[in-house]
Amino acid sequence: MTHPALAAFEGRSGALVVGGIPVDRLAERVGATPFFAYDRAMLTDRVRLLRDTLPTAVSLSYAVKANPMPAVVQHLSGLVDAFDVASGLELRTALDTTMPADRVSFAGPGKSDAELSQAVAAGVTIEMESENEARRVLAAGNRLGIRPRVAIRVNPDFSVKGSGMRLGGGPQQFGIDAERVPALLKELADADLDLLGFHVFAGSQNLRAESICQAQRQTVELMLRLAEESPLPVRYLNLGGGFGIPYFEKDQPLDLAAVGANLATLVEGPIRSALPDARVVVELGRYLVGESGVYVTRVVDRKESRGRTYLVVDGGLHHQLAASGNFGQVIRRNYPIAVGNRWGAEAGEPVTVVGCLCTPLDLLGDNVALPRAEVGDLVVLFQAGAYGLTASPTAFLSHPAPAEVLV
Ligand SMILES: *Cc1c(COP(=O)(O)O)cnc(C)c1O
Repeated sequence: MTHPALAAFEGRSGALVVGGIPVDRLAERVGATPFFAYDRAMLTDRVRLLRDTLPTAVSLSYAVKANPMPAVVQHLSGLVDAFDVASGLELRTALDTTMPADRVSFAGPGKSDAELSQAVAAGVTIEMESENEARRVLAAGNRLGIRPRVAIRVNPDFSVKGSGMRLGGGPQQFGIDAERVPALLKELADADLDLLGFHVFAGSQNLRAESICQAQRQTVELMLRLAEESPLPVRYLNLGGGFGIPYFEKDQPLDLAAVGANLATLVEGPIRSALPDARVVVELGRYLVGESGVYVTRVVDRKESRGRTYLVVDGGLHHQLAASGNFGQVIRRNYPIAVGNRWGAEAGEPVTVVGCLCTPLDLLGDNVALPRAEVGDLVVLFQAGAYGLTASPTAFLSHPAPAEVLV
């Protein structure tokens, strides 16, 4: 059975094709392995799919931390409606594009005073994560003589089932507990702040459409309840996202049509009747970029050990931590993998693919079936477009950083 991640890429004359270029030729063009390659057309197609499936009234925001490569952010700036950033440097990357500042939001706990000042000066929307942060934003605005644009990130009174990572419900470092928001709204009523509305982001990597739909219904219900308590008009409802992509053999792709239909019901029903002028936002990282990226490594050694065949490649967990199973997974499972320059050849040999780091954690493919690969062949890991390079400990073992290309 072919993983959908492999089926999404084309093969030509026995080689995987990325961005129209056979991967062995691309490796020559890049000049060194390992490297990450992101397929521009696949990014464009993914945005088109979302546009075709989600209601037109919903704004599409890209969460830059999923893949902050400037060329990727630049490309997406012409396709999506907004960016969400989570650090001062991501903010600068976002502002280097044509995306207007009032379409950039800044979320995340622990924003420094310097970052808050940067954000206020830029005129982006600060998603406030605590009461204390609200007061610090206000102070930054007073100091700069600029009225900050803000929204309240709410830690909801529910949690989302089926998320690979939970960021809402129960006690959290993210957002302000829903039951404390009315008091804060009262405190901020006369403050020199442009309070736009609310933000909820409660979970990541969810493949269950019904769970996402339920979370969206609960989020809208919560936000409309809070809007009634707000002394100021609510103009911004950021519903989060958390749309997942299939990594492992048994993962079923998300039913996006079901999510789109549910959003349409919410936008045309309760939101239109209570807050007809509110801007409704869905913010996605992984779902936008994850499937468009591959991590390309070269086989450095092929060895036998007590009945097992090892392929040792020149990459590893220092570049693509998630594929080694050490980025939040409970049970290690294999990411989709292939020999990029033997595309379409029969995957007849069970091998263990390991990286070049001196630790048993550096396991990239545990007992996977691949075409027979030799030293010099290109082993490719898929679903590498999100939380790859920048979510990996590049300094560990002091190997050089890999290249990244958008093709
Ligand atoms: C990380 C993050 C996202 C993106 O999450 P994905 O699961 O990659 O879609 C969206 N919103 C906020 C606030 C985030 O911190």
